[in-house]
Amino acid sequence: MRLVLLGPNGSGKGTQAKMLRSELGIPHISTGELFRAAVSAGTEIGLAAQAMVAKGELVSDDLVAALLAQRLAEPDAAKGYILDGYPRTLSQALALDTLLEAADQTLDRVIELIVPDDVVLARCEIRFTAQHRPDDDPAVVRERLRIYRTQIPPIVELYSGRGILTEIDGIGEAAEILHRILAALSR
Ligand code: AMP
Repeated sequence: MRLVLLGPNGSGKGTQAKMLRSELGIPHISTGELFRAAVSAGTEIGLAAQAMVAKGELVSDDLVAALLAQRLAEPDAAKGYILDGYPRTLSQALALDTLLEAADQTLDRVIELIVPDDVVLARCEIRFTAQHRPDDDPAVVRERLRIYRTQIPPIVELYSGRGILTEIDGIGEAAEILHRILAALSR
């Protein structure tokens, strides 16, 4: 199963992706994690992306596509994957189509976690106080949320037009939200 998870930082997307990985037995592919790993390993892509990743700004579409193509070519991705953090723009969604078409594949489902802004902001503030993750800084969260809300509508429209988008209420216990996602996937 090839799955995309959409949702802003603080929507619980990472937690759900990890739980889905165990449930479905397919890898969780986070472009953010891939970038952080590439930066610390000092690979060519990592070096090229370093400045943007450090500032929390979007890396160019070409670099993300190159990074993703490399990861999707690894053997464990042959049976499917949970994509997290990609696509973030309509052009990335179209690039993903091209990548999948070249491999004669399609996406099975796109799950959008629905969490209102005030909840996202409150969750990130709690996490920032506890863990001091720089990307949870309230000013950073607000800006990322603004970008997310601007970029996401055409992506949602694209996938809902194809009949593969499912909106999932992202409020509640993690286990309960996982249950909602699994129920949607089995329909
Ligand atoms: P994340 O952990 O998903 O917030 O990603 C961390 C950083 O990696 C982002 O702030 C961007 O610099 C970069 N990144 C991750 N995914 C993408 C993407 N799909 N497009 C552009 N940049 C990305």
